[in-house]
Amino acid sequence: MTVVPVDAPPYLAPMPPHARARSTKTASRRRTTRPRARSKSNATPEHASEIYRRLHLAYPDAHCALNHRNAYELIVATILSAQCTDVRVNMVTPALFAKYPNAEALANADRETLEEMIKSTGFFRSKTKSLLGMAQAVAERYNGQVPRSMEELTALPGVGRKTANVVLGNAFEMNDGIVVDTHVARLSKRLGLTKETDPVKIERALMPLFPRGHWTMVSHLLIEHGRRVCEARRPKCEQCVLNDICPSSLV
Ligand code: SF4
Repeated sequence: MTVVPVDAPPYLAPMPPHARARSTKTASRRRTTRPRARSKSNATPEHASEIYRRLHLAYPDAHCALNHRNAYELIVATILSAQCTDVRVNMVTPALFAKYPNAEALANADRETLEEMIKSTGFFRSKTKSLLGMAQAVAERYNGQVPRSMEELTALPGVGRKTANVVLGNAFEMNDGIVVDTHVARLSKRLGLTKETDPVKIERALMPLFPRGHWTMVSHLLIEHGRRVCEARRPKCEQCVLNDICPSSLV
């Protein structure tokens, strides 16, 4: 029996039996007349392979746009890139890496000085917290070396699956997953590769469509195409090398 406090708001009150019956009927009518949209797409590895082939021809030099010389610099740059352009991050990191050249130096950074240095990348307080937490963990647990596994990376403060994938793929050349950022999410949907909207589910849908050895490059290609052609507001479908195989093409 559901016990509802006497002063509970009306939405917590138990439903009377006749209303319950009506509600069940309405629900079943809705289920029969309006089937829920399928969340799986019909994308095939062949479709994905053709997309990869054409984008690789169009952007043979696609690569990580965050300037870095090692895994430490890349993990720092990737944390800074949340809700910020890579161009802006690249303007901030030279001075940052000069002042804090490794995890030990960053772990001992003065919080206010760090906040001031990264302010222009936005969300600077939470990014400062992530950078200090990540650097302290790397310095203490891994002797200053950025770890090389998804499990260890995602256990670091401020490091999620996307950042870990960026580091593994670009600093260590390990294809452990696919980076899903805003461009990859948008293009995956437009190209009919998945109907998912959650980044983790998008990644899970993309992985079986591409050979493992292509996973890092897939995201570089989709990001490049998203920046240059398949823009969020106005996709340039008339210039797109995929317009005859894209289910969202406007031409
Ligand atoms: S055809 Fe248009 S919507 Fe499809 S990928 Fe190209 S630019 Fe994007």
